[in-house]
Amino acid sequence: MADSLFQQNLRNKVMDQIALNHFISEEVISAMKNVPRHLFVSKDQQHAAYRDEPLPIASGQTISQITTVAIQTDLLKMKKGNKVLEIGTGSGYQAAILCELGFEVYSIERHKKLHLKAKEILSNLEYENIVLVHGDGFDGLLQFAPFDGILITCGAPEIPEKLLEQLAIGGRMVVPVGEKLQEMMVVEKTDEKDYNTTGAGYFRFVPMLKGIVH
Ligand code: SAH
Repeated sequence: MADSLFQQNLRNKVMDQIALNHFISEEVISAMKNVPRHLFVSKDQQHAAYRDEPLPIASGQTISQITTVAIQTDLLKMKKGNKVLEIGTGSGYQAAILCELGFEVYSIERHKKLHLKAKEILSNLEYENIVLVHGDGFDGLLQFAPFDGILITCGAPEIPEKLLEQLAIGGRMVVPVGEKLQEMMVVEKTDEKDYNTTGAGYFRFVPMLKGIVH
């Protein structure tokens, strides 16, 4: 797959700029420098892939702004080998970053078309530490639970109950909560029934919707 020095330079530049403006761990920044964002968008969007902006993907969805991806990944605070569930595979870009960081990755997408496309590109990029599922993220993946981390990349109406149940004790969920505007919530599960939440700013995501699309 085509990744050129030119694109690598653009990528380094945007990531260095994000690192100057936000407290993002060096590990996350360098993982993101390794992921060719331009390959996750259609040809006509590739010229804009290293602008720090959201971009349209198929099925009326969007790939998040680069800064948002960096912030969410950083808030997750996972270590190599941790088991992480992503809700909203979309283009597969965020999932690729989780793979780069050496996590055991699971990612669910409700649109079949997006799921299949992400599967193709992640396999072309030879990521092997990932399981992609076409399903409804509200249900999670009970058969692989508990997860050390859960990252939701669409706006949830509230903290999804079943996902909270599938989070390990001591685990963290990063979830944008709200309708038009979402507050990024960091949820730390303290025991079987209890959790703490901290707000981490306001963002705009496409909505988390029930059911699947064939
Ligand atoms: N992480 C993605 C961002 C995609 S936008 C990326 O890096 O490209 C959010 C995605 O969440 C959309 O593709 C949308 O279809 C998906 N989504 C919304 N509700 C969902 C649900 N209940 N289960 C799974 N995916 C969902």
